[in-house]
Amino acid sequence: MDKYSILKDTFGYTGFREGQEELMDGLLSRRDVLGIMPTGAGKSLCFQIPALLFPGITVVISPLISLMKDQVAALNAVGVHAAYINSSLSEGQIRKAMEYAGAGRYKIIYVAPERMMTESFLALTESVEISMVAVDEAHCISQWGQDFRPSYLKIVDFIHTLPTRPVIGAFTATATRAVKEDISCILGLNQPLVVVTGYDRKNLFFSVEKPKDRQQAILLYLKENQQKSGIIYCNTRKNVDELCTLLAQNGYPVTRYHAGLLDSERKANQEDFIYDRKPIMVATNAFGMGIDKSNVRFVLHYNMPKDIESYYQEAGRAGRDGEPADCILYYAAKDVRVNEFLIDHQENPELAREDADLLRERNYERLRKMTFYCFTNECLRDYILRYFGEYGGNYCGNCKNCLTEFQNVDVTAEALAILEMVGSTRERYGIQAISDAVHGAESEKVRRFQLDKAPGYGKLNGTSVVRIRQIMNDLLVKGYLTLTPGDYPVLKFTDAGRRFLAEYKKQNQDVMGKAEIGSRAEAKSEEKIILKLPREREQAPQREKKAKGSGTAEMKNPQLFERLRRKRYQMAQQAHIPPYIIFSDKTLREMSNLLPVTRAQMLLINGVGNRKYEQYGEIFAKEIREYMNENGMQSR
Ligand code: ADP
Ligand code: ZN
Repeated sequence: MDKYSILKDTFGYTGFREGQEELMDGLLSRRDVLGIMPTGAGKSLCFQIPALLFPGITVVISPLISLMKDQVAALNAVGVHAAYINSSLSEGQIRKAMEYAGAGRYKIIYVAPERMMTESFLALTESVEISMVAVDEAHCISQWGQDFRPSYLKIVDFIHTLPTRPVIGAFTATATRAVKEDISCILGLNQPLVVVTGYDRKNLFFSVEKPKDRQQAILLYLKENQQKSGIIYCNTRKNVDELCTLLAQNGYPVTRYHAGLLDSERKANQEDFIYDRKPIMVATNAFGMGIDKSNVRFVLHYNMPKDIESYYQEAGRAGRDGEPADCILYYAAKDVRVNEFLIDHQENPELAREDADLLRERNYERLRKMTFYCFTNECLRDYILRYFGEYGGNYCGNCKNCLTEFQNVDVTAEALAILEMVGSTRERYGIQAISDAVHGAESEKVRRFQLDKAPGYGKLNGTSVVRIRQIMNDLLVKGYLTLTPGDYPVLKFTDAGRRFLAEYKKQNQDVMGKAEIGSRAEAKSEEKIILKLPREREQAPQREKKAKGSGTAEMKNPQLFERLRRKRYQMAQQAHIPPYIIFSDKTLREMSNLLPVTRAQMLLINGVGNRKYEQYGEIFAKEIREYMNENGMQSR
């Protein structure tokens, strides 16, 4: 057996994805590896295939019970013997699992980090050969990651207890430098092979919407996207409950998930979602880690998350099968304040004062970048990729901004009025006050701070408040202004902003000086502030265009696809496993396009290996034959 035959015969895949083969080769040559790949890229296979080729057992450390359960179910479904050991098992079950493991029945054992240092597990690992330790979600070991888990530090102790040091593979989707360094350093990776694969998920369509009524906007989206499975994230339990009730009242098959529910209810709801009994899930961010449901067609954010890391991770749960999927964020300014509140009230008693302050600043900075995402008129995908240190093209053709026609508007004069106001009031006020002042509002803030006495008061009284805000945001995004952190954010100049204003003032003086002696002002090439604004008629055209860039072929026999889906659903119900464990949507789509009816034809379909063929192949081939007969079609 080699990696190719396992890929094909066991897993039923036709080829490796980016990064997979390199990482496997690293492990197989007994070199430590660090694999950084976005959610859905196929990290598991990178250690599962080597695990089957090594003489001994592979221990996989994974943070979440649901994650382990899912992976073990998927492995068993392709005929690989694997087991998991975590707190969801009884003592008796654990003893049994250990016994089987000791007898060499499993090639792969998943274990929760808390369980590794227990006596029984250590007794096991002493008596069998451990060829490899694979650390899944390895960013949990770093304090700089979003999900730091102190129990992950035990992995190091565990590795030290082993008689011979196994090869170590670490895998994560978090790519920032601090996290990368922590993983390598804390786990003690030995000159690891580091493989970072593209963060770009081309099949995901990104969009930011700013509707007046978010609930109505979501209802409208669902109406246009019936029968699809998706997740809607909210920032509070209350929002989850409200939205879930509303959707249920409107007849949608919806369920919910948050930390306030009983364990049993959470579990039942999660299963309803995974098994497609209730294909729409409304949830807080507590939901999702380890959910490997491949046919999630949309991830909507009813609220803006706290940072791009969270957003991309949550949005990335859409379209794992590679088929087109939507990631839409519904923005409202209120979310920024809620997130600020959460940052300010985040408690971490383990941290020293200075560290906590530093952490808060970092969180503020992350929140700001998240907010800018909602305001940028540039390519959204590009914005995200740049955040993670990658460079995309400036145009992806599959995000709202790329599909909206924009016009460039020169707002240099307005921008200067704003900057001058910030300067003349000596950088002491926030967005609202400055905006009121330049607009000439007679608001409470203006009266309280006597801004109506400031030189540029009302200078932009002909410009709408919305436009003034857009320009201010643009100045923040482009780095002419910044906001101080804290409860009362105040606008301050950056060096660039100060320089820009000074330059302009100087030019103005030059012009006036020259005017006095009667010469014409020279047209100096001055820096301009150009705002990219959607053209007036922006609404309609984007949807039709969308399907194009997303790179998926037409479906040839949609009724057959539906039929295969129904069959899969029935079988999944009977076997008590999630439908996608049988076959993914992508596999079914290929079947409905290529109409395989023989064993050989079936094995050419992506996702059909020997084991899956034996279990399910004939059942699906029969459906296809029937469909072809009913429709008078010839087989190939
Ligand atoms: P990750 O852990 O990186 O988020 P997974 O390992 O769960 O991703 O894989 C995501 C999906 O991609 C799974 O459904 C998996 O079966 C599928 N997959 C992985 N590798 C391949 C491959 N080489 N060809 C086709 N599908 C693959
Ligand atoms: Zn784009």
